[in-house]
Amino acid sequence: MSEATSVALETRQQVLDEIRRGERFAVVTHENLDGDALGSLVAMHAVLRALGKDAVMVIAADEFPLPPEYRFFALDGLLTEVPDDLDARTAIFLDCGNLDRNPLAALREAEPLLNIDHHHDNTRFGTVNHIVEDASCTAEIVWDLMPSLGVALSTQIAEALYVGLVTDTGRFSYENTTPRSHRMAAELIEAGIDAAGLYRQIYEGVPYAKLELLARALAGSRRYDDGRLAVAVLTSEDFSATSAEDSYSEGIIDHLRAVRGTKVAALIREVTSGCHTGARKVSLRASDDEVDVSAIARAFGGGGHRRAAGFSSELSTGELIDAIRALV
Ligand code: AMP
Ligand code: MN
Ligand code: MN
Repeated sequence: MSEATSVALETRQQVLDEIRRGERFAVVTHENLDGDALGSLVAMHAVLRALGKDAVMVIAADEFPLPPEYRFFALDGLLTEVPDDLDARTAIFLDCGNLDRNPLAALREAEPLLNIDHHHDNTRFGTVNHIVEDASCTAEIVWDLMPSLGVALSTQIAEALYVGLVTDTGRFSYENTTPRSHRMAAELIEAGIDAAGLYRQIYEGVPYAKLELLARALAGSRRYDDGRLAVAVLTSEDFSATSAEDSYSEGIIDHLRAVRGTKVAALIREVTSGCHTGARKVSLRASDDEVDVSAIARAFGGGGHRRAAGFSSELSTGELIDAIRALV
């Protein structure tokens, strides 16, 4: 057994102890919610409720409306502000690499604070840090806890976990996809989920504005250094002209990464809603192991995975492109 695995076994036990011991919980995730954030959140919340615990999910009001592909989640027991009785609750942060990624600062004071994540650069901000780097998604870590808690896979839990799994593995295509991810998928399908239906929920029924935004991004994309770096830029004008929401930019970067010769793809977009309006959000993707884009993101105060990372910045687009080129 590798050292990493034995460390995770210890923290796994600590998480189980805290979940068994606690009576009240607040479950949270990172801003700009993605499928793993929502899937692991909804699943963990349902697991706690199945154990008879008083559990709430907290998602900041700024995050709404959610990306259209995730609006089918019922989100029963949701709060959009930190609960008054936080000091009586165990907080569980899911899929959140650092504290800045959750906009509700009051949550940082919670104790115990269980930090459950799969980002290798997680800053270990919890009182318990259960960081499983080789898990394909945080949903996989939640799934792994369930048998020890004696909670069976309901269809609702299985659906939420599947959303985390299918989105963070890029529909089982990225390197983080392991035999274990496929075993998890098999179990979820055996638990009664409609995999094809979920696929349609997430990837089809695309708003036309999303296509228009994609068209603008690709039409204006630029390639640098013999195409090794591919960059697309979206301004607030692109969003307003297409009536696109911020989240519609999701997935655009994959088109740039897929181009032959691309080592690093970057999407720079102006944030048009919420507390970061006017700032630029940069997404980075690497096509192989030669460049660790999480290291580039960390240089700007962000982070992520080696092949998928991001950060926010007040720099101009020109300054950002120059800086990213220099680091690549
Ligand atoms: P995105 O480009 O937003 O799809 O994010 C890609 C990956 O980078 C995800 O795993 C995110 O959790 C991570 N990430 C994005 N933005 C940040 C940030 N500001 N700080 C830390 N990690 C981030
Ligand atoms: Mn995530
Ligand atoms: Mn994740």
